[in-house]
Amino acid sequence: MKFVFFNIPTSGHVNPALALTAGLVEAGHEVITYLTPGYRDKVLATGSAFRAYPEDVVNDEYFSAVARRFNPPRLATILLDSARELLPQLRTDLEREQPAAVLYDSMCPWGRLAARAVSLPAVTSMTLLDLGLPQLIKSGFAGEALRLLIQNAPWMGRLFRAMWRLRRTHGLPVAPFPKVLNWAGDLTLVYTARRFWPRSDGLGDEYVFVGPPIRPRPDQSGFPFERLDPERSLLYVSLGTVFNDNPDFFRQCIAAFGQREMQVVMALGEQVQAADLGTIPDNIIVWPYVPQLEILPQTSLFITHGGMNSVHEGLYHDVPLLLVPQQVEQGLVAVRVAEMGAGLVLHDGRATAAQLRAASNQVLNEPGYRASAAELGAALRATGGVPRAVAAMETFVGRR
Ligand code: UDP
Repeated sequence: MKFVFFNIPTSGHVNPALALTAGLVEAGHEVITYLTPGYRDKVLATGSAFRAYPEDVVNDEYFSAVARRFNPPRLATILLDSARELLPQLRTDLEREQPAAVLYDSMCPWGRLAARAVSLPAVTSMTLLDLGLPQLIKSGFAGEALRLLIQNAPWMGRLFRAMWRLRRTHGLPVAPFPKVLNWAGDLTLVYTARRFWPRSDGLGDEYVFVGPPIRPRPDQSGFPFERLDPERSLLYVSLGTVFNDNPDFFRQCIAAFGQREMQVVMALGEQVQAADLGTIPDNIIVWPYVPQLEILPQTSLFITHGGMNSVHEGLYHDVPLLLVPQQVEQGLVAVRVAEMGAGLVLHDGRATAAQLRAASNQVLNEPGYRASAAELGAALRATGGVPRAVAAMETFVGRR
């Protein structure tokens, strides 16, 4: 079977997609992936063909440029305007390629719309948690979300205009906000276990819970593995790849965990430099991009921003979590982890050294966190991962 896969250029959305793509190719299918040139080599390494989006619409800086200022209506507006511009070309491409189905990242509305435009089945690679209102209210982040909505009110007007322009230009229905940022397809592959998903009871067979698509990712970062001492416990700190411009947080971590017996690895991202952090104690390794899947099996505690992938990669390796969400969506994931007993949330993304130390001691010393993480890890490993996702797609296309 042939699939066309649309994605957006950011690790959290591309990493699971690459694992799925490699699985599809290994199962004998053909995949054509639309991304930006910075991802070309990674895409080709999976065996998929690569197509670049028009540079003036979606380029390598696209996602970091639109997402780093957390403003969901602005993000949705930009995505929908891009969809409007991309659709004529994508439509022509799909008509020529005639794939069995269109695959698209859930934050990639042009994938959903292009499939609809040419009446092809659409399969979602769902990289976010449920963005529904009930979960928001339960999370304790509703006030923050409301504040954001008021602050970004002018963007709501622009968003409605973008929706209207899209409908008028292409005559296609658009999902409401905020669902449009996590748009489900005819079949939706969800990268978690069913029990992790809030309100999963109401979901039908079109949602297939396949767990995190973990596959080895060859390390290109030159990380100094030789500095890690397997005899010492390891604490791993990361704020992911987007909302990580928080040098004070990393400084607080250094104050909390420096000069201690444990070893600490901190993934800084591209926005904070080691030089911004003063003297780095010997027990701490700072690195711009850490080979996370190789570090996690050795990790005792993962201090994470609560990104959907990072959380699942940690739990998949039975690692309990200390969560320091940097925006509301990460807060929803973090609260879900805490509800399941596998971690503790520090609601203030600007936690102090004393708070970080106390909370990490709590997670490390109370065995319940580790036990719940291991239980969830077992549930995630039992989901079937990439082979299950591939089988679900084959069945889905076969039925059609
Ligand atoms: N990642 C990594 N090394 C790093 C930082 C991130 O390998 O130093 C990977 C991580 O394993 C995950 C993805 O990048 O697959 C980040 O996705 P997530 O959803 O956790 O967060 P985001 O970056 O989208 O906020």
